[in-house]
Amino acid sequence: MTDTAERIRNIKNFKREIYREYGFYYYVPMAEAYTVQIPVTVSCSYRRCLYCDLNQGMKFRELGLDEIEEHIRKLRYINDRPAKRFLLAGGNPFVLSSEKLLKIAGTVREYFPECEYISAFSRADDITRKTSDELRALHAAGIDRLCIGIESGCDEVLSLQEKGVSRADNLRAMSMLDDAGIKYSTYIMLGVGGRGLSNRHIDDTASLLNLANPFQLTVVTLVLFKGARLIEKVRSHEFSRVPPFEALKEGRRLLSQLEISTIWDATHKTNIFPIKGKIPEHKEKLLKRIDDVIAEIESGNVKQYELKRWSKWGTE
Ligand code: SF4
Repeated sequence: MTDTAERIRNIKNFKREIYREYGFYYYVPMAEAYTVQIPVTVSCSYRRCLYCDLNQGMKFRELGLDEIEEHIRKLRYINDRPAKRFLLAGGNPFVLSSEKLLKIAGTVREYFPECEYISAFSRADDITRKTSDELRALHAAGIDRLCIGIESGCDEVLSLQEKGVSRADNLRAMSMLDDAGIKYSTYIMLGVGGRGLSNRHIDDTASLLNLANPFQLTVVTLVLFKGARLIEKVRSHEFSRVPPFEALKEGRRLLSQLEISTIWDATHKTNIFPIKGKIPEHKEKLLKRIDDVIAEIESGNVKQYELKRWSKWGTE
């Protein structure tokens, strides 16, 4: 076997070993798609959000430091060119103790001295449980980008979806990150309040975001995952879904109210109309494009791909 063939075989085997515990939906923050992904936790420690089935029944597990180092060693072999951006994999790896996160960051830097930053998904309460000094130390160690699944700024929506955190918790978490110098992106979910709370969801989300400094908003639309408990509420008519076209209008309403400087990224496949741009620079252009699509849909002149997307998510 040539050196190249052996290397290809080793890489394939290493990848299988490194990610073997991750399920079908191996979900990474959209803002961190092009990172070296290091397994540190499997699944999510919370697993009670009503709309979520990302963990597919998998139990939460923290990997041991030795196990993590072994994965990092293999990732170094795989990435023989400089690798600068890293992601701690799992539903909410920031739940780990600061002490453990610092050790992990140290190991990443030992194997990858060229590392520029380490990112991770986080719940708001994983952040607020840490002290300001701990957050500053984590920032100094290179953990410099978190992704928080805020979804909504409306307490009634958060409670309906059993998010386990409040608007105030989300605001406090973002403000603590601002103080520690840790950058963050947030997920916002259109349709998550259902028809009943649609306007409140959007208006409260806009007012919350206007108090924060996320470098990116990842805008997604609620879909019903097969294993999500929300399905029971839909079947019993306790939750009435916002049709995808109305969700697009929710997005427009949200964008129109934002006064912050950030990236609006609504290119996720759950949205019927993918669009991305910087605000405030491109805000008016983005709104105009959305208005054009709304007018096109309302006139019945919908492009085929939009119809397909719409019918796919609309009939689930
Ligand atoms: S949405 Fe996030 S925090 Fe909620 S259960 Fe799913 S992975 Fe955990």
